[in-house]
Amino acid sequence: MNKKYMALGLTAALTTSLLAACASTEEPTTSGDNEASEESKVVNVYSSRHYDVDKELYKQFEEETGVKVNVVEGKGEELLERLNTEGANTEADLFITADAGNLHQAKENGHLQAVDSDVLESNIPEKYRDTDNEWFGLTKRARVIVYAKDRVNPEDLSTYEALTEEQWNGKVLVRPSENMYNISLLASFIEVNGVDQAKEWAEGLVNNFARDPQGNDRDQAKAVVAGEGDVAIMNTYYMGLMLNSEDAEEKKVAEELGVFFPNQDTTGTHVNISGIAMTKASKNSENAKKLMEFMSDPSAQEQFASANYEYPVNESVEPNELLKSWGDFKEQDINLSVLGENQQEAIRLFNEAGWK
Ligand code: FE
Repeated sequence: MNKKYMALGLTAALTTSLLAACASTEEPTTSGDNEASEESKVVNVYSSRHYDVDKELYKQFEEETGVKVNVVEGKGEELLERLNTEGANTEADLFITADAGNLHQAKENGHLQAVDSDVLESNIPEKYRDTDNEWFGLTKRARVIVYAKDRVNPEDLSTYEALTEEQWNGKVLVRPSENMYNISLLASFIEVNGVDQAKEWAEGLVNNFARDPQGNDRDQAKAVVAGEGDVAIMNTYYMGLMLNSEDAEEKKVAEELGVFFPNQDTTGTHVNISGIAMTKASKNSENAKKLMEFMSDPSAQEQFASANYEYPVNESVEPNELLKSWGDFKEQDINLSVLGENQQEAIRLFNEAGWK
């Protein structure tokens, strides 16, 4: 049984590579013409985003260009693992995932290629692009402090650093350090404050934990409302998703929380992205580039960002009403490539600080 499937798989792989070889060496002429151009009318996407709006955008792209978008959805780590396994044989042309830290890992593992595009460069500010143009941010999210409105006066909040003070002892909630959002957060502190201060912050925060880190960002919000702590560190879009949730409990939780953008008078609030990258093995790189450019275009940006309550990276596009109601805020002034560059150091500091 297994052998048979293996043989079938091998035949399929050989056929695919033969077809690929034909396509790359022969100019399509008579009968092969249509077939060859049909074949090139696709783009294959590995995406960890699973939102209806993404599908809607792919459909619009298909209608505009006649290029079919095939999507494989999965968790970011699973898709990265799949790229690791498939290597140069991957069918993926594009990889879409959250966090500059995850995109950096795909880059480090040699899966990505640089994309030279004036459209991407004009639509996406430099700080949200890889310094080698191997990945590009599509949406932004801020990692903020949320607080219990009935117990915390927002005037008592100021910076991430201030959460390490005596006042917050036993009151701070945040997810485990293995999570990339936190690794990137600490990587940003290494950049703006230096290693020593970043380490001090991690130790100070551990000292003020309300409980051992557990759960995801939404769980921290729920724990604040349940009275386990007073403040939590979480990404802005979870507040948007919870406030608009069909789950009444979740909605109620979010309604009891306030959003605070820390470090406005100092280094700025930490911002991360979800982004897109072209694989090194891409067989449909022209189509892939077209889709990347399409996603950065103002009309796509508006739909793409607002459906998940994220901020558009394209500065000509306004965020949605809820996000606007939270007000403008100052971001950390760093190129997000540093989140990947400081990743290993951040992991080391978390371990030293005993942040589970
Ligand atoms: Fe998330």
